[in-house]
Amino acid sequence: HTIYLKDYAPTPYTIVSVDLDFGIAPDTTKVRAQLTIEPREGTAAGTPLVLDGEELKLEEIAIDGAPLVLSAYAADANGLTVVNPPQRRFVLETLVAITPETNTRLMGLYRSSGVWCTQCEPEGFRRITYYLDRPDILATFKVRMTADEALAPVLLANGNLVSRGSLGNGQHFAVWEDPFPKPAYLFALVAGDLGSITDTYTTGSGRKVDLAIYCAHGKEEQCLWAMDSLKRSMAWDEKRFGREYDLDVFNIVAVSDFNFGAMENKGLNIFNDRLVFARPETATDADYESIERVIAHEYFHNWTGNRITCRDWFQLCLKEGLTVYRDQEFTSDERSRAVKRISDVVTLRATQFPEDGGPLAHPPRPDHYREINNFYTPTVYEKGAEVVRMLATLLGQDGFRKGMDLYFERHDGEATTIEAFLKVFEDANEVDLTQFKTWYLQAGTPKVTVSDSYDAASQTYTLSISQETAPTPGEPEKSDVVLPIKFGLIGPNGSPMGWSGVTGGEVSDDMIVLRGKSAEITFSGVASRPVPSFFREFSAPVNLETDLTQEDRLFLARHDSDPFNRWQALQDVGLALVKDMVAGKQTDEGAIGALSAAMDDTLASGSLDDAFKALALTLPDEQLIGRAIGKDIDPEAIHRARVALIRAVFRPLAGKMRGAYVALGSDAPYQPDAVQAGRRALRNRLMALLVTADPEGPALAAEQYRNATNMTDRFAALAAIGVAWTADAAPLLADFRTRFAGDPLVFDKWLAVSARAEDEGVLERVQAILADPTFPKNNPNRLRSLVGSFAMNNPVQFTRADGAGFRFVTQFVADVDTRNPQVAARVLTGFRVWPMLEATRREAAREALTALKESEGLSRNTSDILTRMLGE
Ligand code: ZN
Repeated sequence: HTIYLKDYAPTPYTIVSVDLDFGIAPDTTKVRAQLTIEPREGTAAGTPLVLDGEELKLEEIAIDGAPLVLSAYAADANGLTVVNPPQRRFVLETLVAITPETNTRLMGLYRSSGVWCTQCEPEGFRRITYYLDRPDILATFKVRMTADEALAPVLLANGNLVSRGSLGNGQHFAVWEDPFPKPAYLFALVAGDLGSITDTYTTGSGRKVDLAIYCAHGKEEQCLWAMDSLKRSMAWDEKRFGREYDLDVFNIVAVSDFNFGAMENKGLNIFNDRLVFARPETATDADYESIERVIAHEYFHNWTGNRITCRDWFQLCLKEGLTVYRDQEFTSDERSRAVKRISDVVTLRATQFPEDGGPLAHPPRPDHYREINNFYTPTVYEKGAEVVRMLATLLGQDGFRKGMDLYFERHDGEATTIEAFLKVFEDANEVDLTQFKTWYLQAGTPKVTVSDSYDAASQTYTLSISQETAPTPGEPEKSDVVLPIKFGLIGPNGSPMGWSGVTGGEVSDDMIVLRGKSAEITFSGVASRPVPSFFREFSAPVNLETDLTQEDRLFLARHDSDPFNRWQALQDVGLALVKDMVAGKQTDEGAIGALSAAMDDTLASGSLDDAFKALALTLPDEQLIGRAIGKDIDPEAIHRARVALIRAVFRPLAGKMRGAYVALGSDAPYQPDAVQAGRRALRNRLMALLVTADPEGPALAAEQYRNATNMTDRFAALAAIGVAWTADAAPLLADFRTRFAGDPLVFDKWLAVSARAEDEGVLERVQAILADPTFPKNNPNRLRSLVGSFAMNNPVQFTRADGAGFRFVTQFVADVDTRNPQVAARVLTGFRVWPMLEATRREAAREALTALKESEGLSRNTSDILTRMLGE
């Protein structure tokens, strides 16, 4: 059934404090809960108390110490109802039995490699005890845990450690107390035999915080980068947002079975170990950067998420979009702002745009859902961050900061809404954000069209700008959104061009704000025809159509003062060419030559940094090209055209590229910093291009693979060869597998490359890997690396015309769904491209999806995705 935002109402009862006692033991764990409950003002006598609960075995129940008679309560598969609770403060005590060992969903309390750990967001706490499992119930928690001293020497929960000790008989206990009222989704507990590293951080106001990262024994050294990232995050949040940490301890635990990246539980973050462990031999530069980013993200949640949380799950982007924005800013300040912006936009276009343009489109703040787990999406996270970024762009950094300060001051300790968030910016800046809110309420990527004309006689320059958002499922009508369009005009000599007057629009020095459907803006005193640069820094998440020529774009690539748009201009030149090639149009040799020359200049530039060059030398990916074509797409034709374009553009540069490749080599000891990483990124980009464009490329990559001294270089070579499936692919993959046998996170890299190979044999190999009896069938990282990569990142072979790729994935989904619905539902989203495919592939996809519908007992997660995918 569907839950609607409009039906939100506070519960009749609220929970003010919680006392939990966990008897942790193999097979069965007992949870005794004492909930201090109060009726809210106005609650009528006799109103039942309805608590959530799933897969709990109720063994005892009492109110204020008196056991309840059978007729006073009812427990079923969804929870517990107390028929006639007291109309005053009372304590409800329950004892339940749970079995973490058989919890393959990895929600609630489960066991990962012997370690007991929890994941409660969004609705996992109800799998631990009966509770009002929703984010607007804020309570203080006290947690006692007992366990076998040898099995679980480490006992952790939220907040501060109050006491611990031995109980004799091999058992010991610990008591933790969290003074900050919190929703149950932030509850966490860990018990196990773990190693750790420790450090300390002193906040600006002098609080000394003990930091620790717990992990499997032997991996301690691999946690040092995460610790370093944590300390830098703590300092940054003080400096940039004035936010200090608020407890005496901050613990992080790395576990190997985890449904997503990480979780911001108060004072006890739990991480997928792939986002903690790093050392140069086994982690790439990209891994180091992800670890830094996610450590920061979860830490930043302490203020945006924990101190101020969500009133209901419709408001998820209140904490996620804002916190992604904050982690993006952190990375921008720590590394290169321009490079970070480009990478984030690449990700947005690769993940959020297809979601927004397909069957799963939804607004950043949806108004209904069947399964909230299916809304932890690129739209809520990444588009949510774009919306916050637009707010900062419109208000300016100072105005934005004033609003954030007011947000923390006004809402600390609350569970709140997007409306309250927008209100603080209105109040702090005396602006009206009514129309701006549309960004949160409607789905779809706006299309912005701009055309221009110059009149030499009157020295006027006119822009016609309009916006249009296509209908999305369930939203036939769209409103106009507020569009901050950062822009500049560039004169013939490449320098910025001014104007003496402007009419027809809301225009400042560097920004046009479009609020209506269209505007015609005229600049006067413009000495000659300028080339315009729009959406600098990608100032709004839109698709832009202009009538710029290829020459204009190449001009921008050379002269735009905004690095983002310099990069974008080269992308646009390449995209236009490849689209023509897919359409079978006569190849424009002149334009190819000009793009080649621009790439040559980019490579030779003395002012651009290496990381930027690496991005500029990357042509749009196949999936982006497909979406730009928009319908009846043939992924194979796109693949062929893109390869042909790479050869045409880069073959003439092969000699220079090889020279640059050699010059970029270095003997310096590995460091994960941005400068070194940028150098490797450019060198590896050149290598990948050479594999496609130069007959000597594959041998060069194979040699790099063998001589590599770090995983970044080794994996880049393996991926280039393994994906292109050259003659070296099979032996190098075999070597990689044995060389790193025993490291599951490196095995994931092997799986991902194996699944992305472009040859027709890939499906059979993927099936064989999965069928191997030693393959860890329940580990989310392994499953996602193999089948997730195939469905999401192998656009040609997943969409094979015979439908075998589709059938493999739907059968996999049906099987995994019985054990871990979240992994199943996530992999199924790989189908979101299907309506755009050409007819044969589209029909094959429809058949596979329709067959999946017939599976018995599909989870709510998977059936929700499936019905939306089919447009039902
Ligand atoms: Zn988050």
